[in-house]
Amino acid sequence: MDRLIYLDNNATTRVDPAVFDAMVPWLREEYGNPSSAYALGRRAEAAISKARSQVASLVHAKEDEVLFTGCGTESINTAILTCAALDPDRKHIITSAVEHSATIKLCEYLATRGYEITWLPVNSQGLLDPDALSAAIREDTAVVSLLWANNETGVLFPVEKIAEITASKKVPLHIDAVQGVGKLPLDLSQVNIPFVSLSGHKLHCPKGVGALIASKRVRFLPLMRGSQEDGRRGGTQNVAGIVALGAAAEIAENPTVHSSVQSMRNTFEKAILESVPGSQVNGAPDNRLPNTSNIAFEGIESEGALMLLGEKGLCCSAGSACTSGSVHPSHVLRAMGCSNDRARSSLRFSFGRFNTMEEAQEASTIVAGVVEKLRSLRPEKRVAAGAA
Ligand code: PLP
Repeated sequence: MDRLIYLDNNATTRVDPAVFDAMVPWLREEYGNPSSAYALGRRAEAAISKARSQVASLVHAKEDEVLFTGCGTESINTAILTCAALDPDRKHIITSAVEHSATIKLCEYLATRGYEITWLPVNSQGLLDPDALSAAIREDTAVVSLLWANNETGVLFPVEKIAEITASKKVPLHIDAVQGVGKLPLDLSQVNIPFVSLSGHKLHCPKGVGALIASKRVRFLPLMRGSQEDGRRGGTQNVAGIVALGAAAEIAENPTVHSSVQSMRNTFEKAILESVPGSQVNGAPDNRLPNTSNIAFEGIESEGALMLLGEKGLCCSAGSACTSGSVHPSHVLRAMGCSNDRARSSLRFSFGRFNTMEEAQEASTIVAGVVEKLRSLRPEKRVAAGAA
């Protein structure tokens, strides 16, 4: 098996060669500490400043609002813990039932430290009702933390509406924009979101670098104390990673680099829905990321499908996670009201700009073949043709 068709771009992305080239000097000859006063250090500091303006430009933020972090998870933890620490009398946090584990695990931990967590539900399409958010906000709400784009289904939350509600009720808002940034435009000059998290490895930059956009209009308490990043995030900066994130942000700002992603996803999805009976998209079809397709295949188990697809060189993800030998259906699909069986029969395909239309077509044929094979092994689960 030589060929690899990588359709798991929501898990991580391939490093763009231009991003790689931009970071190499900062791993070789330009090894200075950005806090050092001599020229080698000042050049590193200047490189970080350039990256800060590239990231700020991608999301229309101010440069001094961009903090570089180690990953999206760190950004999320910093934003939520800052809000909790700033107002220790407020012991209520609002989030949703379909968040990434970075938010879920932190909120579960905070629940053991005296916080009450409201987990907002979603409907069968994965959509959030802004009125439910409005009704959930209380006098003692310390922070609202919600996704922009769901990593499993790609479904989008209405961030403009969410921001209007939290601003009118004077509650700090954090948006986990890790999956959205770099795939869709975000204009923070037009929408009032005090904290926004993003992550380099979702936009063709290496792993190990992220950013938190922290508005200067709200108070801030660092998670990592130290003098770097204006005292807002201690630790000697990962200069090469930050330069890479800046380069990746600049490339992502150009809309033409994304133009073919949606048509590849649509071609793939249409081919599957037409050729595989008993296949259905999970999540609002018209309100999701342009690259993501989460499909339930009646009568199969995604773990087995992943193995067979892997043998054919196709990388994607399952709507379930295998921990300690048992398979847990995805909390996102379960929150949307999917049965355990449907969640366990779902696969996520996520495209990126390094895929080709030929791969999209070939992938649909491979997936159709694997589903048919799995069903033939379990004849009682065979699905009537035309039931798609
Ligand atoms: N939030 C979302 C929606 C994600 O998809 C991910 C990563 O998969 C994260 C947060 C965590 O980002 P990182 O892997 O950079 O910690």
